Amino acid sequence: MAEVRTDFGPPNYKEMMPPVLLENYGKWLYHENPRAGVLKHVSETGAVVWTVRIGSPRLLAIDTIREFCDIADRYCGGHLRFTSRHNVEFMLTDASKVQPLIDELKAKGWPVGGTGRAISNIVHTQGWLHCHTAAIDASGVVKAVMDELYDDFEKMRFPAHVRISLACCLNMCGAVHCSDIAILGVHRKPPMVDNEYLANMCEIPLAVASCPTGAIKATTVDGKKSVVVNDEKCMYCGNCFTMCPSMPLADAEGSGVAILVGGKLSNRISTPMFSKVVVPFLPNEPPRWPQTVEAVKKILYTYVEDARKYERLGDWAARIGWERFFEKTGLPFTGHLIDDYRFAYTTWRTSTQFKF
Ligand code: SF4
Ligand code: SF4
Repeated sequence: MAEVRTDFGPPNYKEMMPPVLLENYGKWLYHENPRAGVLKHVSETGAVVWTVRIGSPRLLAIDTIREFCDIADRYCGGHLRFTSRHNVEFMLTDASKVQPLIDELKAKGWPVGGTGRAISNIVHTQGWLHCHTAAIDASGVVKAVMDELYDDFEKMRFPAHVRISLACCLNMCGAVHCSDIAILGVHRKPPMVDNEYLANMCEIPLAVASCPTGAIKATTVDGKKSVVVNDEKCMYCGNCFTMCPSMPLADAEGSGVAILVGGKLSNRISTPMFSKVVVPFLPNEPPRWPQTVEAVKKILYTYVEDARKYERLGDWAARIGWERFFEKTGLPFTGHLIDDYRFAYTTWRTSTQFKF
């Protein structure tokens, strides 16, 4: 197999690693975070690597990437990396170049930060730019939210890490199920069936098979082959539209934003947690999504003021009790927030020890 070569998949990551990282692979002893946007990694060989992180606007012009590459050529031997949240990291071995690099990045308008207890970039999905299933835009909402949190990217003033994510439909390419604050696009209406063209546009057996709840049946309408949707069974996932363009479900009134909080991957204080829905629906409000931005800020800043050091948002909510969470944030608690999934009884709190 060693000789088998294909053009599938990415190249081996080691081919593109800066030499100092390759030489010290698996030998790192510890790291420090001296200021927002700067990391210092120390290896057992004595090597020290400084990392300077900036936020990228995520949708990048070629000119912007050339600008990053030009900076990397001059300071970092031509190496840079993108984090999974699309921050850009420049790694240096010469400590005397760290401040000049920061100065140049700032002079060019790039925010330096996003490490440790500063807010990191928001990971998001494709939105109206590309994906067909989107209930909301992705980059537009993220821009509106990050514009308001810009200062928090450059300052480490939070109790712990805060990760915000966005997915524009509940297929959740954005991993919103495990973020401190998650913005999720939701549809609330079943697909609209275009009987006129469906038979020409779609494979009907494929459309029927695509539905996870078995809500779609083949039928004939006015002599034309088509499908019918059982609205009671539909959970508005959009899977059928992926298979059949004659079943769109995006709707100005029915599609909008839900907000989830309290998810995390970390093992510190508590085990990894899934996010919970705290705002079931907000309308789609391009271009600045004011209600969504307001709700995110309300949750975030209540947490910042009330949480203890090192407490993630979900740990804070669990400590004070979810009843208090709604009280403190001022978000209304509605029946829509009660978990009615039929196998949910293992997740319910069944004791009488409420904290109101
Ligand atoms: Fe498409 Fe949904 Fe992924 Fe957004 S989250 S890119 S709408 S599949
Ligand atoms: Fe089925 Fe999802 Fe389509 Fe509803 S939106 S009919 S649940 S595939």
